[in-house]
Amino acid sequence: MRGGIYVAVFVLPAERCIRVGALGRRRFSAGVYLYVGSAQRNLEARLARHGRRRKPLRWHIDYLARHARMIGAMTIAGGRQAECRTADALARRFARPIRCFGASDCRCESHLFFAGPPWRRTNRSHGTSTEKETPNE
Ligand SMILES: [Zn+2]
Repeated sequence: MRGGIYVAVFVLPAERCIRVGALGRRRFSAGVYLYVGSAQRNLEARLARHGRRRKPLRWHIDYLARHARMIGAMTIAGGRQAECRTADALARRFARPIRCFGASDCRCESHLFFAGPPWRRTNRSHGTSTEKETPNE
């Protein structure tokens, strides 16, 4: 696929404050983030870029991607309208922690979604789990 839209999945291992360009410093809970974007050319190059930590900071997601790890992405054929429709669909299910994130040039509230704390394997059968629960907001 040369162009299209994507939902990239990032994991932030620990809560932290991150400066997100003009949006300023924001607190991000540890967990799984879904980011909806579009690249109408060179979609694969865009996704590879999201997976790199060191790069010029251009988009809001670049600031989060310095600290979070991209673990994968889904790609979908479509243009900008499909991008916002996908964001709208995710907004029905997931929290939007940062207003206007990735949505500077559309009317969506956000293109970033928080899908909850990361799944961790625990060893409950021995009752010795030391996992910290991350509260949902
Ligand atoms: Zn949008």
